[in-house]
Amino acid sequence: MDRYDLPSRDLKLARREARQERTVVRLGNGAAFGGDTLAVCAGPCSVESSEQIEATAKAVAAAGANVLRGGAFKPRTSPYAFQGLGERGLVMLRTAADRHGLAVVTEVLDPRDVPMVANYADMLQIGARNMQNFALLREAGHSGKPVLLKRGLSATVEEWLMAAEYVLLAGNDKVVLCERGIRSFDSETRNLLDLSVVPLLAARTHLPVVVDPSHGTGVARLVPPMALAAVAAGADGLLVEVHPDPAGAASDGAQSITPDEFSTLMRELAGIAAAVGRRLPAKTLAA
Ligand code: PEP
Ligand code: MN
Repeated sequence: MDRYDLPSRDLKLARREARQERTVVRLGNGAAFGGDTLAVCAGPCSVESSEQIEATAKAVAAAGANVLRGGAFKPRTSPYAFQGLGERGLVMLRTAADRHGLAVVTEVLDPRDVPMVANYADMLQIGARNMQNFALLREAGHSGKPVLLKRGLSATVEEWLMAAEYVLLAGNDKVVLCERGIRSFDSETRNLLDLSVVPLLAARTHLPVVVDPSHGTGVARLVPPMALAAVAAGADGLLVEVHPDPAGAASDGAQSITPDEFSTLMRELAGIAAAVGRRLPAKTLAA
């Protein structure tokens, strides 16, 4: 009899029972996903200039972030929209991060670019649109670099975990899942941030989970409350878009918060983190 083959039977490496301990993914500067200390990734949607990324790195490090985010290869809906600065942007991102003691997470769009992007990044971001790009997942797996795997635009938890399984199967167990909102019927927000997956995934997988309230809502004003809620729900970290001039941003300005707003968020986060037994990253001296 033909019937739908439940993929969960194949969840050999990502499922919770596959490991005794929960996975902790560590980056070179000491940032860790899955430990007592939260991982806080912050930075612009796109790297736009060395001045922009330097100002942002300085501000987010001073506020207590430990990972700098920024896209140099952008997955844009329109082929006419800003596509990113490419390798030139990666150089700017790496330079700014090193100056302020931050690790780097950045998106790789094309399997052929994995070795080059891995040269500059501490962690490879697989974007929502590429969650089921299996060639890219395998290539990122083989790179051995930590991978931040975003949830697909309308991916089920099952599909998302199967995508993680591809990276694990390539011999790379450094995978962090990132909830970034899913499509819904309501256009009040860009996406519907599914915070219920945070405690749900804790039972389904040993992999750490972070939340991106920026793409999850698409509305800057909603980012701080959802970031606090994510940590309260047990997230291992955050990915937040921060831009020194959101109105002038080349991409995702409407959901980007300012350095001042980020700094306020980090102060508020300290209390929430303590309430759930977590700590904020220690500020680096270089900041
Ligand atoms: C991003 O992080 O800027 C991005 C494009 O994210 P997503 O893949 O979640 O849309
Ligand atoms: Mn973005």
